[in-house]
Amino acid sequence: MLATVKSCFVTQVSVASLPSTRILGILVHRLTMDQFVEQIETLIQSEGQHMVATADSSMIFDAQSDSELRSILEAADLVTPDSSGVIWAGKRRGEPFPEKVSGVDLVARLCELSAQKGYKIAILGAAPGVAETAAEKLTLQFPGCNIVGTRHGFFPTESDEVVAEEIGALKPDILFVAMGIPRQEKFIARHKSLHRAKVAIGVGGSFDVYSGKAKRAPVFIQKAKMEWLWRLLQNPSKYKKTMKLPRFMFAVMRSK
Ligand code: UDP
Repeated sequence: MLATVKSCFVTQVSVASLPSTRILGILVHRLTMDQFVEQIETLIQSEGQHMVATADSSMIFDAQSDSELRSILEAADLVTPDSSGVIWAGKRRGEPFPEKVSGVDLVARLCELSAQKGYKIAILGAAPGVAETAAEKLTLQFPGCNIVGTRHGFFPTESDEVVAEEIGALKPDILFVAMGIPRQEKFIARHKSLHRAKVAIGVGGSFDVYSGKAKRAPVFIQKAKMEWLWRLLQNPSKYKKTMKLPRFMFAVMRSK
């Protein structure tokens, strides 16, 4: 059950003309965090449903062999560069990204926006209790942040439709799905008509960070672009994901 934490106008939107570059064939937008937040607000106010992907190197690498993930990324309204590897790839192509725009930072910015404008946020994902704690902490950090429901992300795919319907009943403006790549992107895309979120975003382990369960890398490690090593040391089971980084870099170096 989705736990309730608390309780327009229409425009057409075109994101096709936004600056972007292709990394291993995947279109990634070249916008600042402020510009992404502005675009997301435009999507919330526009007709229809929209998806934002936060693409790190492993997602782009996996999309080379996972055709469903690739199609989802092709159909996404916005794709942010969410890792140092993707930032490196943009620079190498001569089309640099202004900055890294991670899912975890996007969560905070959109909670701040919700506090200002009242947009309804639903959170799906992480271990039982984690999303609830994160929601409480985010509401303390951004008083007025309108988180209307949270639910943990440990359920079998057979229950996807029931969970998506529960989310749909909340009519969220923003849905954060934190169940890891590619499960979160597939949940968002496959059950769009049931979750009915105006904007849905896959945000990986963000709620582990906001709940205090996981510690984010200190700023000097982030600046040294070694966040991947920090995550690996915190969670050695991420070894397989980390090993995709050199393979991603090799593929980028071989690409035109
Ligand atoms: N998770 C989940 N359901 C699952 C598997 C994982 O909700 O079936 C959560 C997990 O608890 C964690 C997040 O998904 O909070 C994945 O975080 P990670 O940083 O591993 O994501 P990724 O690196 O894939 O973005």
